[in-house]
Amino acid sequence: MSDLNSNAAAGRGPDEIGLEKILLFPDKLVSLNKNLSGLDPSYPISVELSLTSQCNLKCIWCSDLKSRALCPDRLDLAVLERLFDDLSAGGTRGVTIEGGGEPVLSPHFVLAAELALNKGLSVGLISNGTRLFVPSMDPDFYARFQWIRLSLDASNEKQYLRLKGRDHFAELLTSLARLASLSPKPTLGVGYVLTNQNDDPDSLRRLAGRLRDLGADYLHLRPVVDHPELVSSRPPLDLKELETENFSINVSALTDNKKTGNDGLPCLAHSLSTVITADGSVFLCGRLNDDPATGAMGNLLENSFSEIWRGQSRRRWSRWAAKGDYCLKHCPQCRMTKYNRLLADLKRIKTCDFI
Ligand code: SF4
Ligand code: SF4
Repeated sequence: MSDLNSNAAAGRGPDEIGLEKILLFPDKLVSLNKNLSGLDPSYPISVELSLTSQCNLKCIWCSDLKSRALCPDRLDLAVLERLFDDLSAGGTRGVTIEGGGEPVLSPHFVLAAELALNKGLSVGLISNGTRLFVPSMDPDFYARFQWIRLSLDASNEKQYLRLKGRDHFAELLTSLARLASLSPKPTLGVGYVLTNQNDDPDSLRRLAGRLRDLGADYLHLRPVVDHPELVSSRPPLDLKELETENFSINVSALTDNKKTGNDGLPCLAHSLSTVITADGSVFLCGRLNDDPATGAMGNLLENSFSEIWRGQSRRRWSRWAAKGDYCLKHCPQCRMTKYNRLLADLKRIKTCDFI
């Protein structure tokens, strides 16, 4: 039984990152399927946007550490307004405001989110949760977000301090409860990078129960990447027992995203999303932006998003990614691999006018 079926049968909440989510975007699926051998011209469903490379924490697994030092903040509100106009006109549905660094630290954070919302884009936020609320902020500001995920990554105060450099554990849970009281309430997730430093099963069970009681909609566990010495050997898959209709525990990333090299497949799914870093660079995907061999497709300070999306550079990088051997050599663990498996299966179907 698929996760979708088993969740539905058990009356549980959906997996916010599941493969079945692609069914919500039939036009994109048609466009991808039409262009299985070439370049999908349709705009990404959503865009991952980094407003700043600054961060106030020091997580021991931070993959953005190197790129943060090399990536100056250059996106101003005029560039962002042009970007959101372009994305909205092109059919992109959502913007995830996220790292590089901690997005809330950007002086443009509030206005950037409001601009995107006013252009008809949905907004999601991935934040470390330490500076979410400032006194000058409209108390209902976050009620306009479709979803917010706070990166907690620890089961208690001591662990948080040890793994992230400063202790904000209790504060983060308070912020979670405050977000849960908003009306309308954004879908609230808690992110947890699982390592061999924070994978004690009993502590995780206690934490999951606590998050559920505070009003979180899901706990999202994902494997540590780029730090083989921290990889956990005991993924807590039995945590799913704690799910309820309103609270899901996503563990699929721990099993699905294990393979590097895109499982030897060509990558076509990169066009589902794209990544824009704080210096304005637009990348083919959010995993190869750190790969020295794979450059940016363009920069928003020089070209519009539509020029970049339809430009030669994207064409060139897409051609490389469409070769399984390029992915095999360059792609780290990646959440797009499951979509690439699906597209590879679709490519093999010959009786395409029949069910
Ligand atoms: S909160 Fe995010 S950007 Fe900041 S140090 Fe941790 S992983 Fe890196
Ligand atoms: S890392 Fe590889 S598989 Fe993942 S989106 Fe990028 S090109 Fe595709």
